Amino acid sequence: MFAGDYGIATYDKNYYLNTGSSKQQMSELEKLTSTFIHYYERNLSIPYGEAITYIETAPTSKYDTWYFVAYPSIVAMTREDGFTNTQASWFKAFIAHELAHYYFGTYKKFNSELGDMFTESLAEYLSIKATKDLLGKDAYLDRVTNKLNELKEVELPAISSIKSGSEYVDRELYVYVYAPVIWLAVEKEIGSEKCCYG
Ligand SMILES: [Zn+2]
Repeated sequence: MFAGDYGIATYDKNYYLNTGSSKQQMSELEKLTSTFIHYYERNLSIPYGEAITYIETAPTSKYDTWYFVAYPSIVAMTREDGFTNTQASWFKAFIAHELAHYYFGTYKKFNSELGDMFTESLAEYLSIKATKDLLGKDAYLDRVTNKLNELKEVELPAISSIKSGSEYVDRELYVYVYAPVIWLAVEKEIGSEKCCYG
């Protein structure tokens, strides 16, 4: 629940709570949102869920910023512009990742010890695929190269050896960086058709 006295707007079928966005900004975010959603629907052959609610609020601390999704809400806790960076590549990657959580986290819920890893890494994997097909090869190579650089000279346990979330060594690195790269490698091995991408 998001309570208080704040501005509410709707654009197309999505909601904007306290985002302070102009019509132009909502139109740009709408375009980004629907492009990714249509891409996921097309490739996974599963219709997307309900409309998205974008929520913006200030964090209690002065300098921190935190974005997260609690489907169907995507929340920006920030003192800067939360949803107006629609041209920035980090923002596009973020929206692609959060929207992918409809499929991994809502439509499909994982209940095992490794559920968190599957939920985050598969959403990230989908967002990387969307980056490649919608935003272009350079943006894709940028994201993959950044991940590979982060994995240089670190030793992480193999997925098959992990019995609980506490064994990741570094959770952020494991679920957002390492595991998505593994899914890309698996796709290379078995072919994109078997990963729902033709
Ligand atoms: Zn996520």
